[in-house]
Amino acid sequence: MPFQHRTLPVTAFQQNCSLVWDDTTKQAALIDPGGDIDVLLGAVKQLGLTLEQIWLTHAHIDHAGATGTLARTLGLPIIGPHEGDQFWIDALPQQSQMFGFPPAEAFTPTRWLHDGDTVRIGQCELQVRHCPGHTPGHVVFYEPTTKHAFVGDVLFAGSIGRTDFPQGDFDTLVDSITSRLWPLGDDVRFTPGHGPQSSFGQERRSNPFVGGT
Ligand SMILES: [Zn+2]
Ligand SMILES: [Zn+2]
Repeated sequence: MPFQHRTLPVTAFQQNCSLVWDDTTKQAALIDPGGDIDVLLGAVKQLGLTLEQIWLTHAHIDHAGATGTLARTLGLPIIGPHEGDQFWIDALPQQSQMFGFPPAEAFTPTRWLHDGDTVRIGQCELQVRHCPGHTPGHVVFYEPTTKHAFVGDVLFAGSIGRTDFPQGDFDTLVDSITSRLWPLGDDVRFTPGHGPQSSFGQERRSNPFVGGT
């Protein structure tokens, strides 16, 4: 299977940035480059990849903080999130100040994403699910040949995303998980925005917030 991925924890929040690539063509994308650009570009170089795109699940600082700088310096397109997160993108400078991050450069996504869209790197095609609730514009990326999902802060091993932010909503988040993620199958493994990987089946059985749904 040509699709490969590697987790690169970044920032003080240990956010799981994912480097994804087509192992045939070595074309690569970064999902949620929140910071630590040296770490990210070091992995790209070490693996002999060509970084071509940035994909965003949502626009919180630990996920999107390095996006503007990377896109500007390397000439990369920014794909996602959904336009519901525009106000979070606009607030990135304040977010970086509030959390003591390096200044985050403003940016405008090259392409907004919607439920049912696809994104492509090399010959690999991933499906997009719009999963609001943690933020209104949050999207999830799903790779069907390896049955792997990159879910940002929607779902964690044993937990779900916070919903106490502006335009966050608990019922909306639970509905996103049960109606947009569970149908992909119990055997789907996922990389969350923070912490260890898990599978949808495991969370369906034992997650205290969405177990038994
Ligand atoms: Zn978040
Ligand atoms: Zn996060």
